[in-house]
Amino acid sequence: MAEPFDIAIIGGGINGCGIARDAAGRGLGVYLCEMDDLAGGTSSRSTGLIHGGLRYLEYYDFRLVREALREREVLLRIAPHIVRPLRLVLPHRRGLRPVWLLWLGLFIYDHIGGRKLLPATRMLDLAHDPAGAPLKPGTFRIGFAFSDCRGDDARLVVLNARDAADHGAVIATRTKVVMARRRHDQWDITLEDQATGRRDSIAARALVNATGPWVEETLASRLGAGLEAGRQIRLVQGSHIVVPRLFDHDSAYLFQRPDGRVVFALPYEGAYTLIGTTDRDFAGDPAQVVATTDEIQYLCEAASEYFARPTSPGDVVWSYSGVRPLHDDHAGDAAAATRDYVLELDAPAGCTPLLSILGGKITTYRRLAEAALERLAPFLPSSSMHRAGWTARAALPGGAAYEPAALDEKLARDYPFLEPSHRRRLAGAYGERAQRILAGARTTTDLGMVFGATLTEAEVRYLMAEEFARTAADVLWRRTKLGLVFSRSEAAALDRFMAAASAPRAAPPPLAEIG
Ligand code: FAD
Repeated sequence: MAEPFDIAIIGGGINGCGIARDAAGRGLGVYLCEMDDLAGGTSSRSTGLIHGGLRYLEYYDFRLVREALREREVLLRIAPHIVRPLRLVLPHRRGLRPVWLLWLGLFIYDHIGGRKLLPATRMLDLAHDPAGAPLKPGTFRIGFAFSDCRGDDARLVVLNARDAADHGAVIATRTKVVMARRRHDQWDITLEDQATGRRDSIAARALVNATGPWVEETLASRLGAGLEAGRQIRLVQGSHIVVPRLFDHDSAYLFQRPDGRVVFALPYEGAYTLIGTTDRDFAGDPAQVVATTDEIQYLCEAASEYFARPTSPGDVVWSYSGVRPLHDDHAGDAAAATRDYVLELDAPAGCTPLLSILGGKITTYRRLAEAALERLAPFLPSSSMHRAGWTARAALPGGAAYEPAALDEKLARDYPFLEPSHRRRLAGAYGERAQRILAGARTTTDLGMVFGATLTEAEVRYLMAEEFARTAADVLWRRTKLGLVFSRSEAAALDRFMAAASAPRAAPPPLAEIG
């Protein structure tokens, strides 16, 4: 019988992968399983803001805002290729929050999180500032520009998983936990391969339930346990729409709505604007969530209240929806429910522990992982605590020594055949590791076939070998966002290629047969 893992983690979202990375880097034996693709749940459906959450100040969530603001700059340092500074423009709107209140909120926001790298808030005269140009003329005179960051949520998950694996963790995707039983000193965990239906089992000394919106279902139906009364999870759906670009600059907007909510509009993948989000209580299977007609209408209305160019559902080129697994603090309104996290430890009479993760944001995943390992410390080898805090200092894969201009120059020199937009896309997604995809290539032909847009065989093979990609959707919607520009037939050809390339012992088909 194999030696049990120190920790088994159920769930390959940001929280599961963040815990896996931290634990593996401390020398622990880690097993993580994800029933779908990494980030296949909520962690690829966020707004992508790495932010303190200005509006949480209205709910006096100072702990969360302070921690998230600090993390903003930590993530900027450890993942500079996929987390970037963002300026947000907040227009004052007559009849809603007064100018003094916005100033006060932004003053606090600027000062409680130890901001060092990002610029401070500035007041804007929207009648003359370029940020006012796309807005309805004569309607918004005063605004504020403040700092946050934006990141690629799904890539952040994948890079945490990659780094965990580089530190020895086993990362098993398309592998579902169907049952886990607690014996006194270990968990026996039954796994099911989602492709073949084959069952297998592993053992671990501690179990982490990081299944996001599935956390309660996992407890009830897979682990034979429940949450303590009164400490439930609240599932809140949020949707986004993507429309053709509504403005040309690279700042984003934060719009206040008459219902008290706020809606973001962000530059997206060059040619588009991303608008979100909504908040509505959700019941059902989180895997099946889709943006409703009402949500799409709501987001179009929000954009049309501010931008000179109206937006209607007919403009929507893509929409996506996710389910926030919020810790239920019994707030009346779904938008008011706390975004902070709670860790619930279950270890009756010194038995092997189960830790459940309730809530949390992409932004705070790294601190959440540290807190999770602190809670599990009594059950883990004490040597693992000596490296606590290491994830704040070590770059994620591709982020070490990343400097955009220098990398661009190097890629342009070493691979002169690459189009500048292709070069920039690779550097922006993979950082220094872009060179692993391109290694040895002298011409475009050396990168193999082109599946569509600038996606080459070399990149796809890298994603399969290094980033756990198995299907076209993994590549087109989570490792990249090329799904926006791929046709159905291009996506189908990519799927066929990947299926053949990953089939056991089967050689990939001759390129002529693809497409
Ligand atoms: P998930 O990402 O859902 O991961 C859980 C995983 O567990 C899933 O992949 C699932 O497939 C897997 N799983 C479930 N059951 C099993 C099983 N039995 N066996 C194996 N695997 C299983 N946060 C920010 O910081 N900034 C933002 O801008 C932001 N915007 C958001 C906007 C929206 C609309 C939403 C919905 C959320 C937003 N968030 C944001 C919050 C953030 O996205 C979530 O808090 C975070 O992604 C939750 O991650 P998770 O790992 O807990 O859950």
